[in-house]
Amino acid sequence: MTKSYDVVVIGAGVIGAATALALARDDRRVLCVDKLPAAGYGSTSGSCAIIRPFYSTVDGSALAYEGHFYWKEWAEFLGVADERGMARYVNCGNLVVKCARNKYLEPVLKVLREIGCPYRELTPAEVKKRLPFVVMDSFDPPRRPEDPLFGHSNGEALPGAVLFPTGGYVTDPQLAAHNLQVAAEAVGAIFRFNTAIVDILKKAGRVDGVVLSSGERIAAPVVVNVAGPHSFKINRMAGVEEGMRIKTRALRHEVAHVPSPAGFDYEHDGIHFSDQDTAIYCRPEIGNHILIGSEDPECDTREWVDPDDFNREFTEQWRVQVMRLAQRFQTLPIPSKMKGIVELYDVSDDWIPIYDKSDLPGFYMAVGTSGNQFKNAPVVGEMMAKLIGACEGGQDHDRDPVSFHLRHIDRQVNLGFYSRRRSPDTRSSFSVLG
Ligand SMILES: Cc1cc2nc3c(=O)[nH]c(=O)nc-3n(C[C@H](O)[C@H](O)[C@H](O)COP(=O)(O)OP(=O)(O)OC[C@H]3O[C@@H](n4cnc5c(N)ncnc54)[C@H](O)[C@@H]3O)c2cc1C
Repeated sequence: MTKSYDVVVIGAGVIGAATALALARDDRRVLCVDKLPAAGYGSTSGSCAIIRPFYSTVDGSALAYEGHFYWKEWAEFLGVADERGMARYVNCGNLVVKCARNKYLEPVLKVLREIGCPYRELTPAEVKKRLPFVVMDSFDPPRRPEDPLFGHSNGEALPGAVLFPTGGYVTDPQLAAHNLQVAAEAVGAIFRFNTAIVDILKKAGRVDGVVLSSGERIAAPVVVNVAGPHSFKINRMAGVEEGMRIKTRALRHEVAHVPSPAGFDYEHDGIHFSDQDTAIYCRPEIGNHILIGSEDPECDTREWVDPDDFNREFTEQWRVQVMRLAQRFQTLPIPSKMKGIVELYDVSDDWIPIYDKSDLPGFYMAVGTSGNQFKNAPVVGEMMAKLIGACEGGQDHDRDPVSFHLRHIDRQVNLGFYSRRRSPDTRSSFSVLG
């Protein structure tokens, strides 16, 4: 062994870097290792980075609502300046269509009332005042363009939408991860890039460190898997996957960037728009563009892939997503040149993350982020530090779950909610909506 640390964090994405920061603030000697050249170059770099408080569960919503306050006070939270600049939170709000598929948002609003999160209901006329090109017809069920009924309303009208003021998006997710790295380094964390973890060391029934691609062995009593879409590969390397009831795998996703409808400045006057009726979400993007993602309707095939070998080119799916939004935004241009990104989600069986210990003492994981945990990264880093501190201090988290205080909204979260041993949570949307 050449070097030793208190903790090795595997992965320097937005959640790995946040975990490294929180652990270093707890006075642990932290090494964060990533096989890519810089922080946030993995799936974080392709994130839509939307901040929104609405999830299917009370715990999911509470964590997301809490996240909003960290992004609002990003510079204060980090406590350092990054010479590359700071990621910017555009607090433009979220507009969510009420439709049959989301039960006209009644379950979501019940959850948000429970956690004290503000919202405002809008009539169709108020929606159109904000976004004049919106059509409030229902197209349910979501279809593919080759379906003869694609683009035809089912004859129903949508009754309105809900505006959530505590949401928006972060302009540069990769920069956000770099900001976290700089803050972590300021409190002593070490980052190593272009270096892969190739093995997990064990001794006397617990984790003992890692082996790097350079052949170097690093000693550490605690190792945290924050490897994003590679999470299942690291869990297999550590031999802990068998002990998990909820597992993770990599799902390919395409995100389209198209110009705003003519005469409208979506970059400045737009909003994060979520529409389960057509299974599309979008948000403003620089250059007066609109960024379009999919809410995973049943008619689309889910592409589970090997994270080391997948197609990074756009496919027909790009056009499908643009055309779906063009049903709702009727003057949306459909360009012939495809722009956007292709990236991977690290999806858990119930689309709720796993923030937990493992059956191997000293080995922890923040995985299964299911395309919806960018917003929570700064909170999750602190949750992981609390969990690790409690477990290493002797608490049996599987029997006596650790709880975490969400300080901005003054609420306790039982971290057992994120257990690897839970049964799939049937309240989940089983989609990117969480
Ligand atoms: C297209 C897309 C859109 C999204 N949109 C949103 C959104 O709007 N809102 C939201 O909240 N969330 C969103 N997400 C989800 C969010 O971006 C992720 O949950 C988050 O970025 C995950 O961060 P991470 O640090 O866990 O993973 P990553 O950023 O993937 O980082 C993992 C790191 O581990 C490294 N690694 C892997 N294996 C090894 C190894 N063997 N050795 C060393 N390093 C290794 C990788 O190189 C990588 O850098 C989206 C995700 C995608 C892909």
